[in-house]
Amino acid sequence: MEYRELAVIGNGCAGLACIRALRACGDKRPILVLSDTRWPAYNPMLTTYFAGGKISREQMFLFGRNEDLRTKLDAEIWEGFRAADLDAEGRVIRDQTGRTVSYGQCLVATGASPILPRTPGMTRQTVFFMRTMDDALRLRRRLEEQPPRSAAVIGASMVGVKVMELLHARGCRVTLADLAPHILPGAASPECAREMERRLESRSVRLCLGVTADRLEPDGTLVLSSGERLESDLTVVCIGVRSNLDFLRPGQVETDRGLLVDEYMRTSAPGLYAAGDAAQGRELLSGESMVIGLLANARRQGRTAGRNLAGVKTPYPGNVLHNITHFMDMEFLGAGSVRSYDQVRCMSRGDSFAQLFWTKGRLTGVNLLNGGAVAGPARQALFRQALRAGGQPPEIPDEQNLLLRDLEKELVQPWT
Ligand SMILES: Cc1cc2nc3c(=O)[nH]c(=O)nc-3n(C[C@H](O)[C@H](O)[C@H](O)COP(=O)(O)OP(=O)(O)OC[C@H]3O[C@@H](n4cnc5c(N)ncnc54)[C@H](O)[C@@H]3O)c2cc1C
Repeated sequence: MEYRELAVIGNGCAGLACIRALRACGDKRPILVLSDTRWPAYNPMLTTYFAGGKISREQMFLFGRNEDLRTKLDAEIWEGFRAADLDAEGRVIRDQTGRTVSYGQCLVATGASPILPRTPGMTRQTVFFMRTMDDALRLRRRLEEQPPRSAAVIGASMVGVKVMELLHARGCRVTLADLAPHILPGAASPECAREMERRLESRSVRLCLGVTADRLEPDGTLVLSSGERLESDLTVVCIGVRSNLDFLRPGQVETDRGLLVDEYMRTSAPGLYAAGDAAQGRELLSGESMVIGLLANARRQGRTAGRNLAGVKTPYPGNVLHNITHFMDMEFLGAGSVRSYDQVRCMSRGDSFAQLFWTKGRLTGVNLLNGGAVAGPARQALFRQALRAGGQPPEIPDEQNLLLRDLEKELVQPWT
């Protein structure tokens, strides 16, 4: 059996950040990248743009070619190696064909995959997803070869609204359905969501909220729990993702929804690290360990793993749930928590809408619709709060930051 001192499972954002950090720290040990695909590393956020024909195939691969891993980072890559079994005690990885490699240290950076609901009629063949290059390619081909006149998007998530936008731009009649009573249920407050829903409806997007999909019939008709029958040519499911960890042996490594790691990205198994959507991390405002599911987090966790694997002890305190999404000519910032708070301040001006959520005198959540220049400082203020709460020094230098009272001034005075 072949042996490699360092193995990285997954050629994505977290994996690449780890390799770059290892080399930046001067670690010269051989690195083996195990990738289940032949595509070079890419940013999954770009998949909707590719599927909608807004960017070319080449523009998907901004991190370079697989060949660059060899030439620029001195890393070897085994393409088409899908880790199917990881023996964390024996430190051996086996793929779906039985090919094996043993390692000294290993990073699990396998990301996450879309969840397929147990809805009768829904299979990986009858519905579309949006996560990987192959998902995007499949949808793009379908849109080009057999343009749908109507489509249903199940899940009004961050991914769901982007998919809805791309279908709408192709002239499709789109219905966006979700079990939740409003769109973007993880990030938006009911009030802010309502604002966005009004704007979507004014552009002929149909919303079916508070419903589940009961079944998908062979002719594409989607039957909802309300009894409504949606005749759609195409169904895309965007109800969330699950960490790719099916290759772990039960009981060998501590997991929850993702692999549990400490602040150095070490799992409970010796020599085994994890980063990105396959791992959990600390959400700084709540202090809870969760899969954070953000690109910046994947990169930071990957980089932290790389530095620690190289022997440069570097902690990573965690992150705050935050996202700025652009869709249907709106910009939405959701940061922190909008669910539990003891004070809320609501402001609007023109087509902009803002809500600040406070808990025990601390800013713990922000919703901003078309906040423009305020979005960056609002997000930073939240980070600052979170880092203070966690007893960590602020990561963002003072000069780049607006103090909270300045933020309030900026938000409140011109808006109310
Ligand atoms: C449409 C869309 C929009 C998004 N929008 C945002 C946004 O606005 N802001 C934001 O911060 N984040 C966004 N995200 C999320 C962000 O892309 C992810 O959080 C980030 O890519 C996670 O990086 P990762 O390295 O953990 O996983 P990935 O980048 O998915 O990389 C994982 C890699 O591992 C490979 N792999 C999986 N299983 C195996 C296996 N068994 N063996 C070998 N290889 C394997 C995969 O093929 C993949 O190449 C979005 C995602 C999507 C899909």
